[in-house]
Amino acid sequence: MVIRSKTLRFVILTSTVLVTIIIAVQLFWLQKVYLYEEKQFNINVSKSIRGLYDDMELVNDVSDNGQKVIENLNPDLYLLRIDCSPNLDSLWLNLKSEFTDFDVYTDCKAAVYSTEKNAYTAQEYIDLPDSYHSTLKDNKVPFYKRDYSYIALFFPHRGQYILKQMLFWIASSGLLLLVLIGFGASIFYLYRQKFLNETQKDFVNNFTHEFRTPLAVIKIAADVLQQDNILEKPDRLRNYAGIINEQTTHLQAQIQRLLEIAYTDRSSLPLEKETLDGNALLQQAINDLQPLIEQKNAIIRTSFESADALISADRSYLLLTFINLIENAIKYSLKPVITVSSRDAGPDFCIEVKDNGIGINEAHHKKIFDRFYRITQGDIHTAQGFGLGLNFVKKVIDAHGGKIEVQSEEKKGSTFIIKIPRK
Ligand code: ADP
Repeated sequence: MVIRSKTLRFVILTSTVLVTIIIAVQLFWLQKVYLYEEKQFNINVSKSIRGLYDDMELVNDVSDNGQKVIENLNPDLYLLRIDCSPNLDSLWLNLKSEFTDFDVYTDCKAAVYSTEKNAYTAQEYIDLPDSYHSTLKDNKVPFYKRDYSYIALFFPHRGQYILKQMLFWIASSGLLLLVLIGFGASIFYLYRQKFLNETQKDFVNNFTHEFRTPLAVIKIAADVLQQDNILEKPDRLRNYAGIINEQTTHLQAQIQRLLEIAYTDRSSLPLEKETLDGNALLQQAINDLQPLIEQKNAIIRTSFESADALISADRSYLLLTFINLIENAIKYSLKPVITVSSRDAGPDFCIEVKDNGIGINEAHHKKIFDRFYRITQGDIHTAQGFGLGLNFVKKVIDAHGGKIEVQSEEKKGSTFIIKIPRK
């Protein structure tokens, strides 16, 4: 599990870095293209203006019609100095033809400012093929006071126009983004598939192991019982029959586990609730585990402090939950000393199972409740299991509207705390 999550982290990290680099490079190029298109627009407008000065006698000194007479106040607005009041009809016509000649295909609102009146004396919307007709009419030409007369050329939709010129680039970037998302999703899907395959393989291995040993033991015992002189040795007979009985009980317990697997597959458990005594159920779980307790010489201490242990719960699920927790406490402790306690926690019935076992590193605290999750390093390989117990426990507690948490430190033991609402 640890190796898997490391690989996963590596895959996620590298792909995130790669995707970030690709997106950054793409943004860099988009910005470059924007600046290029913007520059191109300025050049085209400048050419049109120069053409206008050439076509109409707007200034007295024709040789002076360079940069000095053009004021580019902001990217959307140009002021063109004039020394006379031009013929308006031919001004608008000329403007339109110059813009068309130099590919300036965006809205333009032109206005003529006169120093004497200190106001715009005429305004016109220059209709161009690609203009944004509907919205243009309301756009007012910004007003600037000057000590000379001028023609103002205002391009309210210059930004949109440039973006429209970049449509191909934007669309291809969008496409690239979509491809990246698809790529990420497929990696995630493949990885998940691989993870499921591996956990399934682990499960089959564990499963085979857990069934093979008791079956081999039963086979040996049965062979012994088949010996001709067995009836003459009643002690031996009883002993081997006992072994068969014990192993069958073990197998039955494993089958019970398999049923749990089937249930943990469902998203919600169908509960059959009844009012029951939580303390009595805890005691029953301890009683059911008596053979294991004896086998491992475990010391079980109980402290039932809850004044009101009546809860509404599913008896068989909750019993299996308690059994799972106490069994884990025994299983993962070398010399188990376990405290099973209950107390009131506000409106909740609170149960604690505390052991002095190998403990759980904090990195695993959340994951141990995942299906098939087992901590495989260290010296705990000997403890057998499918990694399903705690997943089942969590499902049961969730279905009861309760909470489960673990407090544990490696080598210092673990405490599992369950809170179940009384009603
Ligand atoms: P299983 O015991 O079948 O492996 P569980 O779901 O019950 O599966 O537990 C998941 C993992 O959590 C175990 O493999 C074990 O590493 C760890 N674990 C559970 N309970 C304890 C405990 N009381 N002390 C230490 N580790 C535990």
